[in-house]
Amino acid sequence: MKRYIEMWSSGVGSWAAAKRRVAAVGVEPITLLFTDTLIEDEDNYRFLIEGAANILGASLPRQFVPPIDSFPPIWEPEARALFLRGLAAETMELLPGFVWLIEGRNPWQVFFDERFLGNSRVDPCSRILKRQLADRWLAENCDPAATVVDVGIDWSEAHRFDDGAGGGVRPRRGADGWVYEAPLTEAPFLTKRDVFRLVAAAGLRRPRLYDEGHSHANCGGWCIKAGHAQAANLLRNRPEIYRYHEGQELAIRAHLEADVSMMTDRRGGGGKRPLTMRALRERIEAGGQIDMFDWGGCGCFSGVPE
Ligand code: SF4
Repeated sequence: MKRYIEMWSSGVGSWAAAKRRVAAVGVEPITLLFTDTLIEDEDNYRFLIEGAANILGASLPRQFVPPIDSFPPIWEPEARALFLRGLAAETMELLPGFVWLIEGRNPWQVFFDERFLGNSRVDPCSRILKRQLADRWLAENCDPAATVVDVGIDWSEAHRFDDGAGGGVRPRRGADGWVYEAPLTEAPFLTKRDVFRLVAAAGLRRPRLYDEGHSHANCGGWCIKAGHAQAANLLRNRPEIYRYHEGQELAIRAHLEADVSMMTDRRGGGGKRPLTMRALRERIEAGGQIDMFDWGGCGCFSGVPE
């Protein structure tokens, strides 16, 4: 029997992709696979667990999901990793079709270890914490000839799945014999609003990051591929999370002794220049102009530059 591995990101897209697959083949051949960067929003972990139970047709004991304020904050990475390892183990015991992988570092720890700050084109965080971790698990646990791997990419981001020029998750993994599919790139085409409706109809509450205006609910509303608009949104809704990432960016600049940043500035002509999170915050606080159309994007599993 063919096996279906659903790359489950804790957002609504991969939930909808997995639901579509379950509707087509039933729940028996389904395995959900989550790779944890340890800095997902606490409410994403709630949706991750409740959404997994929903996809797998399982029920959760009352109060199984820990309250948001019981999670150690992202600026206590060791305590948070320990907490999430425990939660992952309990969840997998309860939901045998759910695999929750933890490499053990968060994106900033990866950047320091790799001596490289990720950006919109080069993403060591998702390469190491997500793609390589998932690829290793697949190699150790699945037969490529009898496995289909589904990702939650939808029709509006189909270039991340296959850009027609050798980029994207399908050609990248196809080169090694793996079959990847993206159920939401196929008709009937769903908008994000349609997916929200499906989530609600299933009795689930979407992750709160969407309510704060984020289109991708990954890495707690932050991402090294974030544009000015996403960063400004994070600053508006989660100033303490913004300050944490701002501090980490300043720390790695000092560590590398290099003028690097995740974002860039194009103001005044002359091409792109580094724009730190601190500089962007100070510009916003001073009432200066930022590019409110530059949302950037997250393509953890595609490896395609934004
Ligand atoms: S969401 Fe962004 S920061 Fe997080 S792992 Fe993916 S690329 Fe890296």
